[in-house]
Amino acid sequence: MNSSSIEHVDVLIIGAGISGIGAAYYLQTMQPGKTLAILEARDEIGGTWDLFRYPGIRSDSDLHTFSYEFKAWENEKAIASADAIMAYLRETVAENGIRQSIRFRHKVISAAWSTADRRWLVEIERLDTSEHIIMSCGWFFCASGYYRYDQGHTPEFPGRERFRGQIVHPQHWPEDLDYRGKRVVIIGSGATAVTLVPAMAETAGHVTMLQRSPTYIVPVPSEDRLANTLPKLIGRDRAYAVTRRKNIAKQRLVWRFCQQYPRAARRLIRHLNAKQLPAGYPVDEHFRPAYNPWDQRLCAVPDADMFKAIRDGRASVATAQIETFTERGIRLQSGGELEADIIVTATGLSLLAFGGISLSVDGVPVNVSEKVAFKGFLLSDVPNFVYVFGYTNSSWTLKVGLVCEHFCRLLAYMDANGHTICYPQLTGSSPL
Ligand SMILES: Cc1cc2nc3c(=O)[nH]c(=O)nc-3n(C[C@H](O)[C@H](O)[C@H](O)COP(=O)(O)OP(=O)(O)OC[C@H]3O[C@@H](n4cnc5c(N)ncnc54)[C@H](O)[C@@H]3O)c2cc1C
Repeated sequence: MNSSSIEHVDVLIIGAGISGIGAAYYLQTMQPGKTLAILEARDEIGGTWDLFRYPGIRSDSDLHTFSYEFKAWENEKAIASADAIMAYLRETVAENGIRQSIRFRHKVISAAWSTADRRWLVEIERLDTSEHIIMSCGWFFCASGYYRYDQGHTPEFPGRERFRGQIVHPQHWPEDLDYRGKRVVIIGSGATAVTLVPAMAETAGHVTMLQRSPTYIVPVPSEDRLANTLPKLIGRDRAYAVTRRKNIAKQRLVWRFCQQYPRAARRLIRHLNAKQLPAGYPVDEHFRPAYNPWDQRLCAVPDADMFKAIRDGRASVATAQIETFTERGIRLQSGGELEADIIVTATGLSLLAFGGISLSVDGVPVNVSEKVAFKGFLLSDVPNFVYVFGYTNSSWTLKVGLVCEHFCRLLAYMDANGHTICYPQLTGSSPL
């Protein structure tokens, strides 16, 4: 292909999830002279928040920190449903004219950096026409999330084929799944499982959450009283800024407290759990993890909805290892069988770095495991490449904002000083 016929943009953003949309906003606002395009493999924005359709799907972060700094979260629910998050993202895209920059059903396959040409050549599969096209860009901005979209993670369960009921993964929720009056076993005790338990227990016959080992589960209010009162007093934007600061401070405080005083944190969480559970409930068997709080992500349950379902007898927890699936349900290694009509495998995501895109620099494939991350957004010896990976111990999007602002300042510095290439380099290694 003649290089002059290849479409070129200054910054090519991969992914139109919450990260990619945020990146487009910051670039448009802080670097209005740069051209950009967003390539999105799916036919809708939102990534995670459009993909998952299981009952009750919601955030477990408060939206005053999970939403963007530049656009106030106005919904009265601080812990919000996927629908509310999608409405917020659609509004962001519409208000800022971002949709016109998005090319849907454009899946990026590979990207090759050429130092001689000072640009990336990007191979794209158009999922609408099956055509392969090439674009070029000065900067490759990877906002592709961190997991596979085509399949979730499911461990090998012995005897799986014997089960006569239905097996469902939350990442591929059948639209017409009817679980009214049915016995449901949910395998797992992460954020997805603790969301599904109360949501399904509303109409299911009974829901059992089957976990190999317990997770910390903390009740949180679904609404933030300060956030809902303050706008009337000081206006929407100032109220949002104050609530956001308050919640950032609270998240940091809780995390520090858990890290510095793990025993006290354990006792506190146990106390909060026991208060929500019926008298005599075996709290330690089902809610006392082997690790310390915030050594893994805490699971938040809004208004203690999961505990309420347990109190009401609509849901229960089993802590045991699976021996095998049977025709009727799941036999446990400790003996006994959990009978089920539906088994939900809430066993997680399949991780995938950089949207599965093959990267190369001057003809040499980039082996990501050999690279060193710089400031959590650049990779050693990979020129003009930015990736965005949010926080795991705080709201993801807080870091997206920091990375995007930093990137825009870097572009401004490079322009002011006549630089066109930027990459971090380890001391002692030779330049490209
Ligand atoms: C069920 C669930 C709940 C969560 N809740 C929270 C929470 O409450 N708080 C929190 O902080 N985090 C939460 N997370 C983590 C969450 O994924 C992030 O917070 C955030 O939504 C990620 O946004 P993203 O835009 O970076 O990635 P994604 O939402 O994964 O979007 C990536 C986009 O890139 C596109 N893409 C990928 N590869 C390619 C390619 N090769 N070519 C073209 N396009 C591509 C995808 O189609 C997708 O649209 C949750 C995750 C899940 C799964």
